[in-house]
Amino acid sequence: MDRVKLSLNESFELANRCLLANGCNVDNAEAVAATILAAERDGCPSHGLFRLPGYVASLRSGKVDGNSSPRVERLAAGVVRVDAGGGYAPLALQIGRPALVEAAQVQGLAALALTNVHHFAALWIEVEALAREGLVAFAFTSYTPSVAPAGSGRPFFGTNPMAFAWPRRDASPMVFDQASAAMAKGEVMIAAREGHELPPGVGLDATGVSTTDPNAILDGGTMLPFGGYKGSSIALMVELLAGGLIGQAFSFEAGERDNKDGGPPRGGELLLAMDPEKFGDPSGWASHCELFFDRLEELDGARLPGSRRYRNREVTPHDGVWVPRSLHETIESLCST
Ligand code: NDP
Repeated sequence: MDRVKLSLNESFELANRCLLANGCNVDNAEAVAATILAAERDGCPSHGLFRLPGYVASLRSGKVDGNSSPRVERLAAGVVRVDAGGGYAPLALQIGRPALVEAAQVQGLAALALTNVHHFAALWIEVEALAREGLVAFAFTSYTPSVAPAGSGRPFFGTNPMAFAWPRRDASPMVFDQASAAMAKGEVMIAAREGHELPPGVGLDATGVSTTDPNAILDGGTMLPFGGYKGSSIALMVELLAGGLIGQAFSFEAGERDNKDGGPPRGGELLLAMDPEKFGDPSGWASHCELFFDRLEELDGARLPGSRRYRNREVTPHDGVWVPRSLHETIESLCST
C-alpha cells in the first residue's frame, strides 16, 4: 500500500487543522487532535488519523457540537458527572479529570460519569492519565449494535471496550484496553480497506454463517464477542455501567437515535478511580505488585499489556508514522471543502 510518512507533530497539526476547518473550536480541536496523536504515537492506527473522516462527518451533519463546553457537577461525595453537552469525549475528560482525582484521593474510591458524549477514541488514554496521578483506573463505554450476544446471530451489544490501569512508582502504568468484541470494529474496517482476511471467530455474515471476510461482517453481518459467553457477559456489564447506571443510551438505543453519518453515536462513559494508598497497605502495595509483575515477565512468552504501545512510543518520535496515501489525501480534501 502506498503510504505517506508524517512526523508526530505533522499528525497533530493535520488533525487539528482538519477539525478547526470543520467547526471545532480551539479547545475541542486540540483535545481531539491530541488523542489522535496519542494513537498514532503508540502504534494504534485504528484510533488515529483513520477516525478523522468520521469526526468530520459528525461535525458536518450537526450531530456533534464542536463548540461544546462540558459542565462538571458533584452528584455525591465520590461521584462526579461531566455533561459533555453533545461534544466529543477528550475535552470533557480533560475538564472532569481533576475533580475525579480529587474525589478518589479523599474518598479512596470515586467515579466519573460522562454523559451526552460522543466517544470515538481508545480508552487507554483516559485510564493511563489517571494511573499517572497514582490511581487505579477503569473505563467503560458502549457504542451501537455491532456484536451478537452469545447464542444469537444478531448484533445487539456495542463493541463495548473496557480499560484498566495500574500505577507503578518507577515505570509507566500497566494498562490493558480491550473491546468485548473479538476485535475492535476499526480493525475490521481497516482489514476491509486493505483487503485482508480476518482470523476465524471474529464475525458472522448476513446469513449467520461464520466468515473471515471483513466486508461480509460489515455488510449486514455481525461481530462476535471474545471468548463466547464470557465476553458476552462483559459486553452486557459495560452496557449497564455506561448506559443504565448513568442514564445514558444502551447501544441499541444509541443505534436507533444515531443519524448514521459514520461518526460516533451519543452515549455515556463511566470511569472508576481508586487510591491504592487508601486500601490498607500504603507502604507495601507498590513493591509487592512489582514482585508480581517481575514474576509474570520472567515467564517465557509472557508480557505485560501495554508494553507494545510503550515500545512504539519510544520509536515514533524519531521514525514518524506511516499513513495510507489515500487517507492522507482524503483528510487534506476535508480541510478545504
Ligand atoms: P487488542 O486486542 O489489540 O488489545 C487488547 C489489549 O490486550 C491491549 O491492552 C494489548 O496491549 C493487550 N495485549 C495484546 N496482546 C497481548 C499479549 N500477548 N500479552 C499481553 N497483553 C496483550 O485491542 P482491541 O482490538 O480489543 O481494542 C482496540 C481498541 O479499540 C481499544 O483501545 C478500545 O478502547 C478501542 N475501542 C473503542 C471504542 C469506542 O467506542 N470508543 C469501541 C471499541 C473499541 P498492547 O496495546 O500493548 O498490545
